[in-house]
Amino acid sequence: MKNIQFILLMLIAMSQIACSQNKKNMKYNTLTPQEASVILYKGTERPFTGEYVNTKEAGTYICRQCEAALYRSESKFESECGWPSFDDEIKGAVTRIRDADGSRTEIVCANCGGHLGHVFRGEQFTAKNTRHCVNSISMKFIPDVQPKTEKAYFASGCFWGTEYHFMKKIGVIETTVGYMGGHVDNPTYREVCGGNTGHVETTEVTFDPSKTSYEDLVKLYYETHNFEQVGGQGPDIGKQYQSVVFYTNLQQKELIEKYIQILKTKGFKPATLIFEAPKFWPAEDYHQEYYDKKNGTPYCHIYRKIF
Ligand SMILES: [Zn+2]
Repeated sequence: MKNIQFILLMLIAMSQIACSQNKKNMKYNTLTPQEASVILYKGTERPFTGEYVNTKEAGTYICRQCEAALYRSESKFESECGWPSFDDEIKGAVTRIRDADGSRTEIVCANCGGHLGHVFRGEQFTAKNTRHCVNSISMKFIPDVQPKTEKAYFASGCFWGTEYHFMKKIGVIETTVGYMGGHVDNPTYREVCGGNTGHVETTEVTFDPSKTSYEDLVKLYYETHNFEQVGGQGPDIGKQYQSVVFYTNLQQKELIEKYIQILKTKGFKPATLIFEAPKFWPAEDYHQEYYDKKNGTPYCHIYRKIF
């Protein structure tokens, strides 16, 4: 009996070693619940809502889960169906699976099996007569030419203090203070201070990704304000002063979420809100680079090392 138990234990141990060896070659990205609902559970994002419905830049669309290259931008075309459409895949990148009812053909990443969408034939959109209808959320776009500058938007209370730290950072080309996230076009400082426009005092940071990184800016952001304060910053109370990050792409969003998790593991309770960046409205001239003009220093944006 003991021998049988021993053999069973050995078999279990060997199968676990085999599993872990397989996983070594499969470095998958962690998926958000929305990504998992499509990639793992074969959901469909709502039409015309995906990030890549209208993109035309040259580059490669890769699998969000395993980062295998799936489609080239040359294969992308306008179908007006509401999802990114391609008339060809990168050779060997996509596996076709006939739906159980035989009516449609599902497409999945050939490397990880992640759900992409469906493929249709005979619609005459292009000479290849094929339409891969792919969920944006199943992919990531990697442009051929990396942009020379990138923008980031941070709100951490009075924008004079937020800008003060970012304008001194190496790799930052320009900073502008302004308003974001409200429902009034081109608001004035007086209107925003009234608290009824919904805007947040925000600093626009234009930086050179070859000299600094979004990650470095996120660290500076968290090291220069009280991100645990809800509904204001220091003595400045009101929604226009809350801790908010407006992201311009998914990589920025993922990095902010990563740092919120890191802060939580350090015992902090970050209150930062995260939104996709809407239009940025620059503030009046006298607010720009305020502390340099006044030769002063911020009253509540004091640097403290965390990371
Ligand atoms: Zn994949």
